[in-house]
Amino acid sequence: MGHIKLKPTIQFEINFHPSELDDIIIPEESKEIARDYVKSKKLSENDIMIMMDNKVIYGYDYLYQNKKLILPEVNPVTIFYSNAIMSSGLLQNYKETLLSEASVCGKNGQMIDLNHSGAFFQLAINCIVNLQATLESFANVVIPHDYLFTDSLGNPIIPTISHKLNTSIPEIRSINFKTKFKRYCKHIDALIQLRNNIIHLKPVEQTTNTVYKNVYRQLLNFDYHKTIIVVSTFVNFYEPDLLSECGCGNDFSYDIIKK
Ligand SMILES: [Zn+2]
Repeated sequence: MGHIKLKPTIQFEINFHPSELDDIIIPEESKEIARDYVKSKKLSENDIMIMMDNKVIYGYDYLYQNKKLILPEVNPVTIFYSNAIMSSGLLQNYKETLLSEASVCGKNGQMIDLNHSGAFFQLAINCIVNLQATLESFANVVIPHDYLFTDSLGNPIIPTISHKLNTSIPEIRSINFKTKFKRYCKHIDALIQLRNNIIHLKPVEQTTNTVYKNVYRQLLNFDYHKTIIVVSTFVNFYEPDLLSECGCGNDFSYDIIKK
């Protein structure tokens, strides 16, 4: 799979080249504000527009080594999703290593290497947490601050992520993912459930000594490939083309590098 295109939070196309902006049409007062801003070491709370060849994106300033830098504001939904994809790239390899090197029940004398578990579970958890964060950050962008969450009887509630995805977003956007992709919904439910099991990980009632085994088995069984597709299908259903692969053909994965 090609790497994910990172997108700015806001962008719009322009039908002129920034160099065509004539100096004369800028009022003197604006020029003075601009000059003061460039000289000052104070960060701006206003929007900063970054003009590119055929579009405008928004950015923010940041002080670094006594210089004021202008950075583009990247949509966090694309960051989380890209993180999930890059964490998943080598999962299958590390799963095969973990399972093929594992000791077999009834056979003696095999070495146990905890790093094989570490390599797989670290990347697997990164993938799950970032896939869920993709959905949650997307929901928080779509749902306005003053939106009132209610149950089916109209009583105010503190919403779960599932409520936001299954009820609030369809209500706000007047379309419902479930009606078109019902078969995908169980994958989203499984993702949220597993992410909650990881984040709120606590030993199960102490009846045995291996209290985390169920979460580890779930992480081994989880369908990462399918869920990655389902998450982008969900987001793009409500915001067409927000999560898309870059056409450059490069594919990036996180790996363990020895320094
Ligand atoms: Zn690319």
